[in-house]
Amino acid sequence: MAEAAAATAQGEAPIVQLEGVNKWYGTFHVLKDINLSVAKGERIVICGPSGSGKSTLIRCINRLEEHQRGRIVVDGIELNQDVKHIEQIRREVGMVFQQFNLFPHLTVLENLTLAPIWVRRMPKAEAEKTARLYLERVRIPEQADKYPGQLSGGQQQRVAIARSLCMNPKVMLFDEPTSALDPEMIKEVLDVMIELARSGMTMLCVTHEMGFARTVANRVIFMDRGEIIEENAPEAFFNHPRSERTRLFLSQIL
Ligand code: ADP
Ligand code: MG
Repeated sequence: MAEAAAATAQGEAPIVQLEGVNKWYGTFHVLKDINLSVAKGERIVICGPSGSGKSTLIRCINRLEEHQRGRIVVDGIELNQDVKHIEQIRREVGMVFQQFNLFPHLTVLENLTLAPIWVRRMPKAEAEKTARLYLERVRIPEQADKYPGQLSGGQQQRVAIARSLCMNPKVMLFDEPTSALDPEMIKEVLDVMIELARSGMTMLCVTHEMGFARTVANRVIFMDRGEIIEENAPEAFFNHPRSERTRLFLSQIL
Protein backbone atom coordinates (compact mmCIF):
# COMPACT_ATOMS: atom_id res chain seq x y z
CA MET A 1 0.00 0.00 0.00
CA ALA A 2 2.77 2.40 0.92
CA GLU A 3 4.52 1.73 -2.39
CA ALA A 4 1.31 2.29 -4.32
CA ALA A 5 0.82 5.57 -2.54
CA ALA A 6 4.41 6.51 -3.33
CA ALA A 7 3.93 5.82 -7.03
CA THR A 8 0.77 7.91 -7.07
CA ALA A 9 2.47 10.69 -5.14
CA GLN A 10 5.14 10.86 -7.84
CA GLY A 11 2.31 11.41 -10.30
CA GLU A 12 2.74 8.09 -12.06
CA ALA A 13 -0.43 6.91 -13.77
CA PRO A 14 -1.66 3.46 -12.71
CA ILE A 15 -0.49 0.71 -15.02
CA VAL A 16 -3.86 -1.04 -14.89
CA GLN A 17 -7.11 0.76 -14.16
CA LEU A 18 -10.62 -0.63 -14.06
CA GLU A 19 -13.50 1.77 -13.55
CA GLY A 20 -17.04 0.54 -13.03
CA VAL A 21 -16.40 -2.62 -15.03
CA ASN A 22 -19.42 -4.84 -15.62
CA LYS A 23 -19.69 -8.02 -17.58
CA TRP A 24 -22.48 -10.47 -18.33
CA TYR A 25 -22.39 -13.96 -19.79
CA GLY A 26 -25.80 -13.84 -21.44
CA THR A 27 -28.06 -12.77 -18.59
CA PHE A 28 -25.61 -13.86 -15.88
CA HIS A 29 -23.98 -10.81 -14.26
CA VAL A 30 -20.45 -12.07 -13.70
CA LEU A 31 -18.58 -8.81 -12.88
CA LYS A 32 -20.37 -6.11 -10.93
CA ASP A 33 -18.96 -2.58 -10.83
CA ILE A 34 -15.33 -3.55 -10.46
CA ASN A 35 -12.99 -0.70 -9.56
CA LEU A 36 -9.31 -1.47 -9.35
CA SER A 37 -6.23 0.64 -9.76
CA VAL A 38 -2.83 -1.02 -9.95
CA ALA A 39 0.30 1.07 -9.59
CA LYS A 40 3.61 0.09 -11.16
CA GLY A 41 5.40 -2.53 -9.08
CA GLU A 42 2.34 -3.58 -7.10
CA ARG A 43 1.75 -7.25 -6.37
CA ILE A 44 -1.90 -8.05 -5.97
CA VAL A 45 -3.36 -11.38 -4.97
CA ILE A 46 -6.99 -12.07 -5.87
CA CYS A 47 -8.80 -14.82 -4.01
CA GLY A 48 -12.38 -15.92 -3.55
CA PRO A 49 -14.67 -18.91 -3.97
CA SER A 50 -14.85 -20.85 -7.20
CA GLY A 51 -17.17 -19.13 -9.67
CA SER A 52 -16.77 -15.67 -8.11
CA GLY A 53 -15.41 -14.14 -11.33
CA LYS A 54 -11.66 -14.08 -10.65
CA SER A 55 -10.62 -15.60 -13.99
CA THR A 56 -13.11 -13.47 -15.87
CA LEU A 57 -11.72 -10.36 -14.21
CA ILE A 58 -8.11 -10.96 -15.14
CA ARG A 59 -9.01 -12.28 -18.59
CA CYS A 60 -10.77 -8.95 -19.26
CA ILE A 61 -7.47 -7.14 -18.66
CA ASN A 62 -5.95 -8.62 -21.83
CA ARG A 63 -9.24 -8.98 -23.66
CA LEU A 64 -9.50 -12.75 -23.57
CA GLU A 65 -12.96 -11.75 -22.35
CA GLU A 66 -14.83 -8.61 -23.30
CA HIS A 67 -16.48 -6.37 -20.70
CA GLN A 68 -19.72 -4.62 -21.57
CA ARG A 69 -19.71 -1.58 -19.34
CA GLY A 70 -17.04 0.55 -17.68
CA ARG A 71 -13.44 1.30 -18.59
CA ILE A 72 -10.27 -0.74 -18.63
CA VAL A 73 -7.06 1.19 -19.26
CA VAL A 74 -3.67 -0.50 -19.43
CA ASP A 75 -0.59 1.72 -19.47
CA GLY A 76 -2.65 4.59 -20.82
CA ILE A 77 -4.31 2.54 -23.58
CA GLU A 78 -8.04 1.99 -23.32
CA LEU A 79 -9.46 -1.41 -24.18
CA ASN A 80 -12.23 -0.80 -26.66
CA GLN A 81 -13.21 -2.09 -30.07
CA ASP A 82 -9.97 -0.76 -31.60
CA VAL A 83 -8.05 -3.88 -32.61
CA LYS A 84 -4.78 -1.93 -32.53
CA HIS A 85 -5.35 -1.17 -28.85
CA ILE A 86 -6.07 -4.81 -28.11
CA GLU A 87 -2.89 -5.92 -29.88
CA GLN A 88 -0.86 -3.25 -28.11
CA ILE A 89 -2.17 -4.26 -24.70
CA ARG A 90 -1.62 -7.97 -25.32
CA ARG A 91 2.02 -7.18 -26.10
CA GLU A 92 2.43 -5.51 -22.73
CA VAL A 93 0.52 -7.97 -20.59
CA GLY A 94 1.90 -11.44 -19.90
CA MET A 95 -0.46 -14.20 -18.85
CA VAL A 96 0.16 -17.53 -17.16
CA PHE A 97 -2.67 -20.05 -16.96
CA GLN A 98 -3.44 -23.00 -14.74
CA GLN A 99 -2.93 -25.38 -17.67
CA PHE A 100 0.42 -23.97 -18.93
CA ASN A 101 -0.88 -23.62 -22.55
CA LEU A 102 2.51 -24.37 -24.15
CA PHE A 103 2.71 -25.39 -27.80
CA PRO A 104 3.26 -29.16 -27.57
CA HIS A 105 4.85 -29.52 -31.01
CA LEU A 106 7.51 -26.87 -30.36
CA THR A 107 10.62 -27.23 -28.19
CA VAL A 108 10.97 -25.15 -25.05
CA LEU A 109 13.29 -22.75 -26.87
CA GLU A 110 10.87 -22.46 -29.79
CA ASN A 111 7.98 -21.81 -27.40
CA LEU A 112 9.99 -18.94 -25.95
CA THR A 113 11.16 -17.38 -29.22
CA LEU A 114 7.96 -17.66 -31.27
CA ALA A 115 6.28 -14.43 -30.16
CA PRO A 116 9.45 -12.32 -29.94
CA ILE A 117 10.34 -13.32 -33.53
CA TRP A 118 6.86 -13.03 -35.06
CA VAL A 119 5.25 -10.30 -32.96
CA ARG A 120 8.24 -8.19 -31.98
CA ARG A 121 10.23 -8.93 -35.17
CA MET A 122 13.29 -9.76 -33.09
CA PRO A 123 16.19 -11.42 -34.96
CA LYS A 124 16.26 -15.17 -34.19
CA ALA A 125 19.72 -15.15 -32.58
CA GLU A 126 18.73 -12.33 -30.25
CA ALA A 127 15.43 -14.02 -29.38
CA GLU A 128 17.28 -17.24 -28.51
CA LYS A 129 19.79 -15.38 -26.38
CA THR A 130 16.96 -13.70 -24.45
CA ALA A 131 15.12 -17.01 -24.14
CA ARG A 132 18.16 -18.74 -22.63
CA LEU A 133 18.56 -15.90 -20.17
CA TYR A 134 14.99 -16.36 -18.95
CA LEU A 135 15.37 -20.13 -18.80
CA GLU A 136 18.29 -19.49 -16.45
CA ARG A 137 16.09 -17.21 -14.40
CA VAL A 138 13.41 -19.87 -13.98
CA ARG A 139 16.20 -22.39 -13.30
CA ILE A 140 15.78 -24.78 -16.22
CA PRO A 141 18.45 -23.75 -18.75
CA GLU A 142 19.15 -27.43 -19.48
CA GLN A 143 15.61 -28.05 -20.79
CA ALA A 144 15.84 -25.74 -23.83
CA ASP A 145 15.71 -28.46 -26.48
CA LYS A 146 13.04 -30.67 -24.92
CA TYR A 147 9.37 -30.71 -25.78
CA PRO A 148 6.77 -29.69 -23.17
CA GLY A 149 5.53 -33.27 -22.88
CA GLN A 150 8.98 -34.36 -21.67
CA LEU A 151 8.86 -31.97 -18.71
CA SER A 152 7.21 -32.15 -15.31
CA GLY A 153 4.23 -29.88 -14.60
CA GLY A 154 6.37 -27.57 -12.48
CA GLN A 155 8.95 -27.29 -15.25
CA GLN A 156 6.24 -26.62 -17.84
CA GLN A 157 4.79 -23.85 -15.74
CA ARG A 158 8.24 -22.29 -15.38
CA VAL A 159 8.61 -22.44 -19.17
CA ALA A 160 5.25 -20.66 -19.44
CA ILE A 161 6.47 -17.93 -17.09
CA ALA A 162 9.74 -17.58 -19.02
CA ARG A 163 7.80 -17.43 -22.28
CA SER A 164 5.77 -14.49 -20.99
CA LEU A 165 8.88 -12.72 -19.72
CA CYS A 166 10.54 -12.97 -23.15
CA MET A 167 7.99 -10.42 -24.38
CA ASN A 168 9.23 -8.00 -21.73
CA PRO A 169 5.74 -7.39 -20.31
CA LYS A 170 4.85 -4.45 -18.11
CA VAL A 171 2.34 -6.50 -16.13
CA MET A 172 2.04 -10.22 -15.45
CA LEU A 173 -1.31 -11.91 -14.85
CA PHE A 174 -1.42 -15.31 -13.19
CA ASP A 175 -4.57 -17.42 -13.06
CA GLU A 176 -4.13 -20.13 -10.43
CA PRO A 177 -0.67 -21.03 -11.76
CA THR A 178 -0.08 -23.79 -9.21
CA SER A 179 -3.55 -25.34 -9.03
CA ALA A 180 -2.82 -28.07 -11.59
CA LEU A 181 0.50 -29.05 -10.00
CA ASP A 182 1.42 -31.92 -7.74
CA PRO A 183 2.21 -30.59 -4.26
CA GLU A 184 5.96 -31.14 -4.56
CA MET A 185 6.11 -28.89 -7.63
CA ILE A 186 4.18 -25.96 -6.23
CA LYS A 187 7.14 -24.51 -4.40
CA GLU A 188 9.45 -24.38 -7.43
CA VAL A 189 6.87 -22.32 -9.30
CA LEU A 190 6.09 -20.07 -6.34
CA ASP A 191 9.82 -19.48 -5.81
CA VAL A 192 10.11 -18.21 -9.38
CA MET A 193 7.09 -15.96 -8.85
CA ILE A 194 8.53 -14.63 -5.59
CA GLU A 195 11.77 -13.79 -7.36
CA LEU A 196 9.83 -12.07 -10.12
CA ALA A 197 7.98 -9.99 -7.54
CA ARG A 198 11.28 -9.03 -5.91
CA SER A 199 12.62 -7.90 -9.29
CA GLY A 200 9.87 -5.26 -9.33
CA MET A 201 7.40 -6.84 -11.76
CA THR A 202 3.81 -5.62 -11.50
CA MET A 203 1.74 -8.74 -10.82
CA LEU A 204 -1.91 -9.70 -10.47
CA CYS A 205 -2.19 -13.25 -9.22
CA VAL A 206 -5.32 -15.29 -8.74
CA THR A 207 -4.20 -17.86 -6.22
CA HIS A 208 -5.19 -19.56 -3.02
CA GLU A 209 -1.58 -19.90 -1.93
CA MET A 210 -1.92 -17.72 1.12
CA GLY A 211 1.72 -18.16 2.11
CA PHE A 212 2.61 -16.59 -1.22
CA ALA A 213 0.11 -13.80 -0.59
CA ARG A 214 1.68 -13.06 2.78
CA THR A 215 5.20 -13.11 1.35
CA VAL A 216 4.82 -11.00 -1.77
CA ALA A 217 1.45 -9.29 -2.03
CA ASN A 218 1.10 -5.68 -1.06
CA ARG A 219 -2.67 -5.99 -1.44
CA VAL A 220 -5.05 -8.93 -1.20
CA ILE A 221 -8.44 -8.70 -2.88
CA PHE A 222 -11.35 -10.95 -1.98
CA MET A 223 -14.04 -11.51 -4.60
CA ASP A 224 -17.42 -13.15 -4.17
CA ARG A 225 -20.30 -13.40 -6.66
CA GLY A 226 -18.78 -10.95 -9.12
CA GLU A 227 -17.90 -8.25 -6.61
CA ILE A 228 -14.80 -7.07 -4.81
CA ILE A 229 -15.93 -7.57 -1.23
CA GLU A 230 -12.79 -6.52 0.56
CA GLU A 231 -9.21 -5.50 -0.07
CA ASN A 232 -6.40 -4.85 2.31
CA ALA A 233 -2.71 -5.31 3.02
CA PRO A 234 -2.05 -9.04 3.70
CA GLU A 235 -1.41 -8.61 7.41
CA ALA A 236 -4.76 -6.89 8.00
CA PHE A 237 -6.58 -9.04 5.46
CA PHE A 238 -5.64 -12.30 7.16
CA ASN A 239 -5.64 -11.18 10.77
CA HIS A 240 -8.64 -8.86 10.76
CA PRO A 241 -10.97 -9.63 7.85
CA ARG A 242 -13.79 -7.12 7.84
CA SER A 243 -16.50 -9.00 6.03
CA GLU A 244 -18.30 -12.11 7.22
CA ARG A 245 -17.93 -13.64 3.75
CA THR A 246 -14.16 -13.14 3.84
CA ARG A 247 -13.99 -14.74 7.27
CA LEU A 248 -15.98 -17.72 6.09
CA PHE A 249 -13.78 -18.13 3.01
CA LEU A 250 -10.56 -17.90 5.00
CA SER A 251 -11.83 -20.41 7.55
CA GLN A 252 -12.40 -22.87 4.69
CA ILE A 253 -8.98 -22.55 3.05
CA LEU A 254 -6.55 -21.84 5.89
P1 ADP B 1 -13.55 -18.10 -10.91
O1 ADP B 1 -12.31 -17.93 -11.71
O2 ADP B 1 -13.63 -17.19 -9.73
O3 ADP B 1 -13.78 -19.52 -10.49
P2 ADP B 1 -14.92 -17.53 -13.39
O4 ADP B 1 -14.55 -16.14 -13.77
O5 ADP B 1 -14.23 -18.63 -14.10
O6 ADP B 1 -14.79 -17.69 -11.80
O7 ADP B 1 -16.47 -17.75 -13.59
C1 ADP B 1 -17.43 -16.93 -12.97
C2 ADP B 1 -18.80 -17.42 -13.33
O8 ADP B 1 -19.05 -17.23 -14.71
C3 ADP B 1 -19.03 -18.91 -13.07
O9 ADP B 1 -20.35 -19.07 -12.58
C4 ADP B 1 -18.89 -19.54 -14.42
O10 ADP B 1 -19.67 -20.69 -14.52
C5 ADP B 1 -19.38 -18.45 -15.34
N1 ADP B 1 -18.70 -18.49 -16.65
C6 ADP B 1 -17.37 -18.47 -16.87
N2 ADP B 1 -17.08 -18.48 -18.17
C7 ADP B 1 -18.28 -18.50 -18.81
C8 ADP B 1 -18.67 -18.51 -20.19
N3 ADP B 1 -17.75 -18.48 -21.16
N4 ADP B 1 -19.99 -18.55 -20.46
C9 ADP B 1 -20.91 -18.55 -19.48
N5 ADP B 1 -20.61 -18.53 -18.17
C10 ADP B 1 -19.32 -18.51 -17.83
MG1 MG C 1 -10.83 -19.29 -12.23
